Amino acid sequence: MDEPALAIDIGGTKIAVGLVSDDGRLGHHTQLPTPDGDAEAIWAVVDSLVTEALAAAGGRIRGVGIASAGPIDLPSGTVSPINITEWQRFPIVERVTELVGSPARLGGDGLCMAMGERWRGAGRGAHFMLGMVVSTGVGGGLVLDGAPYDGRTGNAGHVGHVVVDPDGAPCTCGGRGCVETIASGPNMARWARENGWDAPPEADAKELADAANAGDPLALRAFRRAATAVAAMIASVGAVCDLDRVVIGGGVAKSGALLFDPVREVLAVHAGLDFLHGLQVLPAELGGDAGLVGAASLVISV
Ligand SMILES: [Zn+2]
Repeated sequence: MDEPALAIDIGGTKIAVGLVSDDGRLGHHTQLPTPDGDAEAIWAVVDSLVTEALAAAGGRIRGVGIASAGPIDLPSGTVSPINITEWQRFPIVERVTELVGSPARLGGDGLCMAMGERWRGAGRGAHFMLGMVVSTGVGGGLVLDGAPYDGRTGNAGHVGHVVVDPDGAPCTCGGRGCVETIASGPNMARWARENGWDAPPEADAKELADAANAGDPLALRAFRRAATAVAAMIASVGAVCDLDRVVIGGGVAKSGALLFDPVREVLAVHAGLDFLHGLQVLPAELGGDAGLVGAASLVISV
């Protein structure tokens, strides 16, 4: 039997570790919340999950792939995730390599999501693909000519910061009018509330989707506004990269037709070039497992 790949997925809310077979099936996997605490306390969670997975594999693995929230820095093997403030240029590649005893390969979480979906999910058969997540933020990764596209530092595919409204709201990145300022779940709920959505302060994109499904016109406008931003970005990135497929996952994408119908409708308006007419936009299939499956694909040729 072929040895599995060890996959690590590091995010602001959870850290997951799993074993992935060479046909992309996720076997043993466990996760823990990303702890509050110093850099070593966070590392201790990675250490314990990896040690447990190594034991489950009988110490025999074929390689280690790491998906991490960004920004990352591939040349130095370090990560500085926006949502893990204690990790500033944390040397994740070196630490994992020491722990496991074999070289680790790092990728952005958006890239790994895209790779996972292309291997085992809604991206199967795509050659030029954007995989993206719309949830508390908007992120993504590019698979170009069938291969993961890292970019210079590992951060290619940050589609949440494509500017769709140059005079728009300030973004956490320091810019203005990025897709994320309009289409992230929290920003959708905020906009709806500012425009008179009658909802409790803690109501989020899930409640907004429920309201839209119940016919609330303001909630429907919030979804259309977000979908318009996402579609404008897809038309732009699609034209730049000559894409054949876009796969969208994340909490906001779980609202299904509420997001996808207006995205496809608006995309049809903006994606006018002939080579974009076949561009498909599909819902992700792997959910939260995509990062682990994609991380494994960094060390298994798929
Ligand atoms: Zn931004």
